[in-house]
Amino acid sequence: MTAISIIESRAKEVKLPRWLKECLINQQSEQPEADATLICRAFNFAYQLHEGQTRKSGEPYIAHPIAVASLLRDLGGDSVTIAAGFLHDVVEDTEVTSAEIEEMFGVQVRLLVEGVTKLSKFNFSSTTERQAENFRRMFLAMATDIRVIVVKLADRLHNMRTLDHLKPEKQRRISQETREIFAPLANRLGIGRIKWELEDLCFKYLEPEAYDEIKTLIAERRTDREARIAQVTDTLRSRLQHLKVNVVELTGRPKHLYGIYQKMQRQQKEFSQIYDIAAFRIIVETNEECYRALAVVHDAFKPIPGRFKDYIGLPKPNRYQSLHTTVVGSNGRPIEIQIRTLEMHHIAEYGIAAHWKYKETGASEIEPASSEDQKFTWLRQLLEWQKDLSDAQEYMESVKDNLFEDDVYVFTPDGDVVALAQGATPVDFAYRIHSEIGNHMKGARVNGRWSVLSKPLENGDIVEIVTQKNSHPSLDWLNFVVSPTARNRIRQWYKLSHRDENIARGKELLEKEMGKSGFDSLLKSEPMQIVTQRCNYHSVDDLLAALGYGEITQNHVVNRLRDVVKEQQPVEEVPVEAEAIESSQLQGSVKQQSSCKSPIIGVEGMLYHLAGCCKPLPGESIIGAVTLSSRGISIHSQGCHNVEKVPGERIIPVSWNDDEDGKAFTYPIDIQIEAMDRVGVFKDILARLSDRGINVRNAGVKTHRNKPALISLSLDIRDRQQLEYVFQRISSMSDILNIRRVMNSGER
Ligand code: MN
Repeated sequence: MTAISIIESRAKEVKLPRWLKECLINQQSEQPEADATLICRAFNFAYQLHEGQTRKSGEPYIAHPIAVASLLRDLGGDSVTIAAGFLHDVVEDTEVTSAEIEEMFGVQVRLLVEGVTKLSKFNFSSTTERQAENFRRMFLAMATDIRVIVVKLADRLHNMRTLDHLKPEKQRRISQETREIFAPLANRLGIGRIKWELEDLCFKYLEPEAYDEIKTLIAERRTDREARIAQVTDTLRSRLQHLKVNVVELTGRPKHLYGIYQKMQRQQKEFSQIYDIAAFRIIVETNEECYRALAVVHDAFKPIPGRFKDYIGLPKPNRYQSLHTTVVGSNGRPIEIQIRTLEMHHIAEYGIAAHWKYKETGASEIEPASSEDQKFTWLRQLLEWQKDLSDAQEYMESVKDNLFEDDVYVFTPDGDVVALAQGATPVDFAYRIHSEIGNHMKGARVNGRWSVLSKPLENGDIVEIVTQKNSHPSLDWLNFVVSPTARNRIRQWYKLSHRDENIARGKELLEKEMGKSGFDSLLKSEPMQIVTQRCNYHSVDDLLAALGYGEITQNHVVNRLRDVVKEQQPVEEVPVEAEAIESSQLQGSVKQQSSCKSPIIGVEGMLYHLAGCCKPLPGESIIGAVTLSSRGISIHSQGCHNVEKVPGERIIPVSWNDDEDGKAFTYPIDIQIEAMDRVGVFKDILARLSDRGINVRNAGVKTHRNKPALISLSLDIRDRQQLEYVFQRISSMSDILNIRRVMNSGER
């Protein structure tokens, strides 16, 4: 078969564009170009594979790859990109594997086809604006080669052009996705040509009435508008010629429909009020001529103040460059004019793809972007010209690397995109979703399979966290998490929840400092209790736990302990007399008076004792009664009925010493509890007291058949506050019926 007959047989089925025919002829010549050969082989392979397949429109399927390849060629794509355009649907729609693509067309074509296939698998329906932004960024990050996205955009553009043949519902869904994801993506890459067409097509399917209205209005004013455009272009052309500015192109045409619609929406205006429906564009040869052309424009028409923008000196983030100005036309209506060089024009139309065109000629003279728009650094980097990179692909890849090295994009099972730092693991992901998810994480499934928690996630992974009520973080996680949030939450959890381990660790630290011998009895000793109170912990265990997670240091504890032991060494014996009945109980605490200040102010240097009838506690109001016996002054609660009998002249004012030292004392208090007679209730009460470091001197239980149990306790209590706390804690138990403090019946 001759080349011509192949072309003819192909052309019978589907209309071949001229460039493709030329390419096919070139391939059959004596010295075929390598590029043409690759492109033609890709076309013929795709043609055979898609043979017999038809599109919804009824035309042969191959028409779609041909259209996509043609778009890529228009954008200036290289032979690899054009070949990928022909082959972009074969892996998805036919039996061919990507390994076979590589074998036949090389690794670059394979990567492009694979990339497009992968991106096609995601369903982008129903995205919010923020989510859409995540998708756009993920897209850029996931494409190993920016050319993948350009192929994807060409694919989407042709699908949008042929959307008429689908059901209205599908038209809307695809248009929505295009408006949210693909048009902004084209804009990001600076490919204005694709962006505008996508936007107008979405407009047509998403707001059909408004679209038709604007289209009709533009058509109605066509004659009028064309006359006006001709008038302006004639004026400008002759003036520019006169001043020897080389004009490459001078055009005036209606702006694209969606742009007009957006302007009407934004400014709340009618169609007739939107003045710059026609946009004029002057394309010249050099930067210098841009400014000369601007002078010509401002000389011919009156410029509107504040409407001039120099995007040549200050390029837009996507590298767009132009001079923009608005002037008043002859009929008094404003005219919008753009002035740029041919190269700037290509960048405006083709964006990142423009690099394909310019890499051979090396014609780039674009200055680096100004440092003013810092917030777009990432995008500026994307589009920064890098002359020293010889190869287009190398350039594209370096761009991609610089831009997205910091982020990895993964999915929740619901399809939400989560951006994480590079190296992030399933644990980082879990804590990003919610701290409770992290704290109860049991395992993670990545892409449906159980994953090691320390394994870094990759772009596009779908991550599912499995939680369990009893699961909790592991200290080991701190060795591999990369996000500060996860790190802090794990530490916090340990502080709050890992009490036993912290206590053990605290014990270990203290034992190292104090020595092994007698350590256990030291922990139970009275000085240890005092240190605990002075450090403001409820129990020795609390203190040890705080030591364990580093809230206090072992040095601090040891020094405090030393102080207390010193205080307890008696300097001199001071005889103290207590009521006979209380003497044994009081001894422990009263002895401390010898080395400390008196706990009661007003009895300094005198003998005194706490009355056994009311047993006052620090925090309660007290008075002293001078007794006639050798027992000295008797300290009562104010309001104790025994005080009423004491003659006024024998009453002296006293009060509790609120100093730190005063708090080192405890006082014996009796309480009585009525409780449901349940097995274990007694033990529970004792547990509640001992875990707050309250010493129980004496305890007894009386039970009667069918009656509540009567529990009597003698406690060492520091002050009124602590006693109230005990009451509160015990009465909150469900089995407790009543709790009261027991006073002795009277004092002689
Ligand atoms: Mn396709």
